[in-house]
Amino acid sequence: MWKQSSLLPQNVAAFKELRRKYDLYPLVIHVGYLVNLASQDEALRMRSIEAFRAEISRAVAISAEYLVLHPGNYKGATVEQGVNTLAVSIRKAAQETPFETVTLLIENSSGQSNALGASFTELQHILTMLHGLPIGCCIDTAHCYASGMDLSSPEGLDDVVISLQQTIGLDRVPVIHANDCRSPLGSHLDRHEHIGSGGIGLKGFQRIVNHPLLRDKTFILETPLEQDGDDLRNMQAILTLRSDTATTSGRSKSRKAITTKPARASKLARKTGKGK
Ligand SMILES: [Zn+2]
Repeated sequence: MWKQSSLLPQNVAAFKELRRKYDLYPLVIHVGYLVNLASQDEALRMRSIEAFRAEISRAVAISAEYLVLHPGNYKGATVEQGVNTLAVSIRKAAQETPFETVTLLIENSSGQSNALGASFTELQHILTMLHGLPIGCCIDTAHCYASGMDLSSPEGLDDVVISLQQTIGLDRVPVIHANDCRSPLGSHLDRHEHIGSGGIGLKGFQRIVNHPLLRDKTFILETPLEQDGDDLRNMQAILTLRSDTATTSGRSKSRKAITTKPARASKLARKTGKGK
């Protein structure tokens, strides 16, 4: 929806108190799905910029660390024009409503028709266009799989990690949306599935959450909410896959991507409430 709820100061204060109590860190929030900052439709783009500005100010108000944004759709133009439009829109919004303490994370897409962000090189290009702003990327596992990256196999995971290192840089990917994928590999259909029940599978997620270069990231589940208790089941499913020590994906150690880093407490958080 476009309508946005106003933040009452007492609610913000109560929320911050609960964050402290439950040590909810980092706080990652998601921009509304109707926002399309790459739109070639001027009216939609202007409306999206206004809605995005309101999201920035809310993120600042509740001291969120990260604000996740879908890069949008460039229907009726070229990818290049789409990326340019997106960059101009974000810079315009940031000029009027500075990000302050918030880091904007551009999320990869599954590459459905005219959606930006289906490849890591495209995301890298977007980051380059927005040089100087507090910006990084959020990688969604279901979107990777739907766009053709086979995270169900050790080789597929290695390829994804190496490709991230060689494009965006893993240090600019603090958050991973951990979702299994209900649609076929390469189908470009964005359909999230319960952890272990989709194309990536339990083994695939076991390698992802224990990978030495990924295990310290913040994992957010956006798995389906179809039956009561689904979110707890998905949380338990992914927590049981976690081992205390980093494990590589099992391929030969020679590949550049496979290095170990000191393990730090990682965070597995469940995105509260359905996306707006
Ligand atoms: Zn996502």
